[in-house]
Amino acid sequence: MESAATRLLATVASGVFGLLIGSFLNVVVYRLPRAMSIARPPSHCPACDAQLSALDNIPVLSWLALRGRCRHCGTPISPRYPVIELVTGVLFVGLALALPSVKPIASLAGVVATTIAVAAIDVDNLRVPPVLGWFAAASAASLLAVSTAGHVPGRLGWAGIGAGTAVAAWLLHWALDRAGDGSRRFPDIALCVAWGWAAGWLTLGGGLAIGFALAVLALASPLRRFAQTRCVIAFAAILSVATIVAGAIATR
Ligand SMILES: [Zn+2]
Repeated sequence: MESAATRLLATVASGVFGLLIGSFLNVVVYRLPRAMSIARPPSHCPACDAQLSALDNIPVLSWLALRGRCRHCGTPISPRYPVIELVTGVLFVGLALALPSVKPIASLAGVVATTIAVAAIDVDNLRVPPVLGWFAAASAASLLAVSTAGHVPGRLGWAGIGAGTAVAAWLLHWALDRAGDGSRRFPDIALCVAWGWAAGWLTLGGGLAIGFALAVLALASPLRRFAQTRCVIAFAAILSVATIVAGAIATR
């Protein structure tokens, strides 16, 4: 068993990491779809090009202290920056509080962070880079490895999770093909696989609820784009089927 001190430390660390990763996601969301390096140059104001100091880069607090404006030229900075930082921090804390063990936090945090990035890029109506899909799937895969190696008990079996995600991926691919945009939606399909995986690993009800809520967020743009094809309804059905199949096989 993990001590109360371990859990408290994990929760605080998750919050701090969540804010920092949220800050990094802002860079990813802006630069990755524009084929810019995420390492260079350092953060700068898009209006006046002034390089931002470490003091101007503190998640949420810098935006509040500067009242949402560039320190150098006064150009407004979108509130989306602190919102993404805060949402990531809150969700990471939620994971630390909700999970039965601290061991799988990082894996699920990877899936959550990728979902936030994909959702924001989707809202911008830019093409989601495939690397984000791979990252989501790898994070979900690492969840199972960490869980197995760490002997986190009471989880569903590999077979159920595999079957659930296979069904989920196939159905989503089919739905997107019918919408005529299948090849462009690889990251969303990978996210679906990641969430099918994670939902299968989590308890049925909670996993389904979390997976569904974030899947809808991830599909914010397809929600608009595919309104007539009822893609979101298809996606809800996919996650439900995936989770039920995974649960049914695993509890047999
Ligand atoms: Zn500026």
